[in-house]
Amino acid sequence: MTDKRIAQLVAAIPAAWTPPPLKLIESEKLSLLETGLLCTLTKHLSATAGLKSLRGLHALFPDWNELRVSQVQEFESAIKTKNDDLRRLVAGVVKEYLQEIFQNNHGFDLEPYRDDPTEAAKFVAELTHFGTSAQHYLLFVAAGGEAPASNGLVRVLDRLGVVKRTSSMRKAQEALSKKVSPADREAFASRFGAIVEFCESKKPTCWECALVEACPFGKKVFKDWQAQQVRLELHREREEAARLKAEERERKRLEAEAKKRAEKLAKEEAKRQAIAERKARAEEKKAEMKRKKLAAAKAAAAKKVAAKKKAAAAKKKATAKKAAAKKAAAAKQKAAAQKAAAKKKAAAKKKGGTKRSSSPKKKSTAKKAKKKSTKRTTKKKTSKKKPSTKRKPAAKKKPAAKKKSTKKRGATKKPAAKKKTKKGATRRKSKKRR
Ligand code: SF4
Repeated sequence: MTDKRIAQLVAAIPAAWTPPPLKLIESEKLSLLETGLLCTLTKHLSATAGLKSLRGLHALFPDWNELRVSQVQEFESAIKTKNDDLRRLVAGVVKEYLQEIFQNNHGFDLEPYRDDPTEAAKFVAELTHFGTSAQHYLLFVAAGGEAPASNGLVRVLDRLGVVKRTSSMRKAQEALSKKVSPADREAFASRFGAIVEFCESKKPTCWECALVEACPFGKKVFKDWQAQQVRLELHREREEAARLKAEERERKRLEAEAKKRAEKLAKEEAKRQAIAERKARAEEKKAEMKRKKLAAAKAAAAKKVAAKKKAAAAKKKATAKKAAAKKAAAAKQKAAAQKAAAKKKAAAKKKGGTKRSSSPKKKSTAKKAKKKSTKRTTKKKTSKKKPSTKRKPAAKKKPAAKKKSTKKRGATKKPAAKKKTKKGATRRKSKKRR
């Protein structure tokens, strides 16, 4: 008796991969190894292209082990697709499949697994690159079209409440074959096989499973997961708030530090400016003092020159005044002498020739007075001319003959001699008259 619920569950699971039809596999008489390879190829290619690629690979390398150890470039041309990247990718997947089969089976003969569902389930569970969906489809083919059975599939169905859990794969296979109709077994194998991937024994990811709403166990796990997500979200929010708070605190600290640094720099700058201003003021003061000192020195020098000029002018004025006074005195004296001489002359004329003895005397006195006056005048002249004689010492050293030739110089330097000569001459004149 088939289970309608299983059919409903199969219909609820989306088909992520379309396996090659069982009829095609049987008509082509593919071995389990080739069936597995065709499943690998049909994950990327269509069933027809997959089958052609399988035939091409087998033609290139009749021994599957040779294909396993070959380079991808050696057989990628057998992959039937126009996309170069896809061809290279599929060639790599083929190599991985053969490598995984060889590592877990130590050969490429998988036919013994057809009669032993327990070993077959253990073996396909090791093919991690193959995927749970392909694993269960291979079990379905190995079972000759019966419902597949594996520990993972039994766990899924147990959690869904469809079958009871058992460790015997043969019993599980028999029980499932009764519950799943032959028409649904192909889809059941591939689609329920995909669910096994989420339904892990310890940590099922029910929130990713397509059957979570229909699964009592999954509902509970999903609820716990949602609560956990809420807690995690709260925790994340708290952490985010703490992070933002710490960032804000750090930002304020940095701002305070920057402000402090700026204030310190401003203070230092102000200090520098004050020092510079003080220095400039001191230099300006110094320059001002220097200017004042220079001006005072200039004024003192000018004053000194003016005083000298004034003193020289005063001296000149005094000498001129003195000379004028002397000249006036000399003129007065001369006038007095002339007056006296005139008086004497007049007196002598009155007396006539009676007193000739006395007249010569008077004449001589008059002459003496005249000579005295002339001496004074010559002295004055010589006194005036003295500076010129001092300035020209060479003139002084000139021969005496020249000096004698000039009457004034002879009169100034040797007045006595001249006087004597004049006196002698007058005396001689007077004697002649006598
Ligand atoms: S809902 Fe969870 S427990 Fe249920 S079948 Fe899916 S994965 Fe498994």
